Amino acid sequence: RAKVAGGNRYVIFQPEMHATLRERMQLENSLYQALEKQELCVYYQPIYSLNNNQLKGFEALIRWQHPVEGLIRPDKFIPIAEETGLIIPIGAYVLWHACQQMQQWYEQFPDLNLVLSVNVSARQLSQPHLVDTVFETLTRTGLAPEKLQLEITETTVVENPDAAMQTLLKLKQQQIRLAMDDFGTGYSSLGYLSRLPIDVLKIDRCFVKDIEHNENSLEIIRAILGIAQGLRLTVVAEGIETEFQAQQLRELGCPVGQGYYFSVPLDVAATTQLIRDYSEVETVAGN
Ligand code: C2E
Ligand code: MG
Ligand code: MG
Ligand code: MG
Repeated sequence: RAKVAGGNRYVIFQPEMHATLRERMQLENSLYQALEKQELCVYYQPIYSLNNNQLKGFEALIRWQHPVEGLIRPDKFIPIAEETGLIIPIGAYVLWHACQQMQQWYEQFPDLNLVLSVNVSARQLSQPHLVDTVFETLTRTGLAPEKLQLEITETTVVENPDAAMQTLLKLKQQQIRLAMDDFGTGYSSLGYLSRLPIDVLKIDRCFVKDIEHNENSLEIIRAILGIAQGLRLTVVAEGIETEFQAQQLRELGCPVGQGYYFSVPLDVAATTQLIRDYSEVETVAGN
């Protein structure tokens, strides 16, 4: 038992709490080392047009190739990276690797017309330095700004709307595309949506998942598509797992989607193979 805080505040550490705390500190420590040892890598999930299955781009998703634990998903370590500030170097690392890889694919397959989408967390967006990091990454990798899309969330914007607005405007001025991720799950303010220089809404997968069983989810998707149309935004549906969901979204008029139904996130080799196969099909089709 330990007396942590001063005064009369006692925190009683239960054994299981202790384990969690220790686990967390270990995770934090090894995450720092993971960055140095280059155990972090980027996977790519393809994004498709729902009408004609045309490949539209990829979302870059970070993975941690842990020497003992195996592949660790971001939900396990991104929150800790955000709290500790490690998300700043990690975010820059993902951006650099993904842009460099995308540019390499462009050089290898010159007929491509794909957009690379990269997630940006609240902590990153609140750094004035983000804009410089992004511009420098584009200059040094040679990737055209209009081929890069940054995904932010509603929460990110709510925390510091003025700073976020300034940063987003600077990015937008340079033709970088901006997407609102997980739309519908945060503190949505439709006011922000009309003011922010956003190009794309990504419908959160919880609505897509429910589409078959919950009439309300279908109506929410319909409403989001209506708002998007009014504001001239593109829409991407996330987490499409079945043909039924893809068909429903198509019928509702949702133009673009991603999900396990099309493909799970892939490593670099598998993504290269997917692009190669896709390019061949397109060439045969005379596209
Ligand atoms: P997100 O940006 O909303 O990414 C979509 C998540 O849904 C990914 O999880 C993806 O693998 C998963 N997903 C895609 N299709 C399906 C599907 O059909 N069914 C289901 N059940 N899941 C699907 P992932 O890769 O585990 O990433 C989780 C979250 O971690 C991301 O959510 C994003 O918020 C964050 N994240 C990932 N990479 C980065 C990064 O480089 N930087 C930052 N700041 N956050 C990241
Ligand atoms: Mg995302
Ligand atoms: Mg999302
Ligand atoms: Mg998410």
